[in-house]
Amino acid sequence: MQISNTTYTATPLAGKIALVTGASRGIGQGIAERLGRAGATVVVNYAGSQEDANKVVATIQSFGSNAIALQANMGKVEEIRRLFQETIDRCGQLDILVNNAGIGSMAAIADVTEEEYNRVFDVNVRGVLFAMQEAARRMNQNGRIVTISSSTTLYPDPGVAVYAASKAAIELLTQVLAKEVGNRGITVNTIMPGPTVPGMFANLPPEVQQQAAASSPFNRLGTPQDIANIIAFLVSEEARWLTGQDICANGGARI
Ligand code: NDP
Repeated sequence: MQISNTTYTATPLAGKIALVTGASRGIGQGIAERLGRAGATVVVNYAGSQEDANKVVATIQSFGSNAIALQANMGKVEEIRRLFQETIDRCGQLDILVNNAGIGSMAAIADVTEEEYNRVFDVNVRGVLFAMQEAARRMNQNGRIVTISSSTTLYPDPGVAVYAASKAAIELLTQVLAKEVGNRGITVNTIMPGPTVPGMFANLPPEVQQQAAASSPFNRLGTPQDIANIIAFLVSEEARWLTGQDICANGGARI
């Protein structure tokens, strides 16, 4: 494996192909736009929001980078495989995968239905596992895989059982994959965001959002840009020594 010295440029990801799942809005949108601003060609995956995905593509193009929108339901293995094949066919290679697509869920264990369990685990675990499999098979040397977990795995409050369990599963997958692909210089990490808006946390009642903001020393909620900036570092050459890690990005809430 060749270890190079870092060179500093405004577009450190120029020449890299990045696939961001669930990138039509929320945190995924922030990540896709941030990687595009850093010079990457970005594949903007979405499930149903084609118009929103096209807007993200247009924003990235306005930075002078390339981007395409590709539809695929990340809960279905055959669609995941098609997404990766289309990425390689259209972009030629894969250097960066950000597993961002995810489904939120709030229910006490006493009330969880089998349908809800399937809905959440299909996307949050099946989707991440088979996206990791495709990346492990197709990714370039020194590639980068980042998966969006959640700080609920550190602070599991009542009602988050199914959601937090799905995120705990992908933290474990991350550690195993880090060991399996490390010999190719590929790093594999998770980010555990705290409450972030815009995003699924905006669906919760205002008093819950205020309480969450007050638990951070910065007295605010996170933004997709806060998360995206950390990911821009994690996928850079400079982060080559960080792998198998779960990085909590919650503005210091609950320290
Ligand atoms: P949003 O609900 O705002 O956005 C979800 C995104 O995922 C959309 O782009 C949506 O695309 C896409 N998506 C949903 N289901 C699928 C699917 N089956 N296949 C492909 N894409 C899909 O969520 P957030 O931005 O808030 O969350 C992004 C990630 O961050 C998730 O993994 C979430 O668990 C995690 N997270 C979020 C936190 C928060 O407070 N917001 C905190 C901690 C973690 P479309 O519109 O096309 O359906």
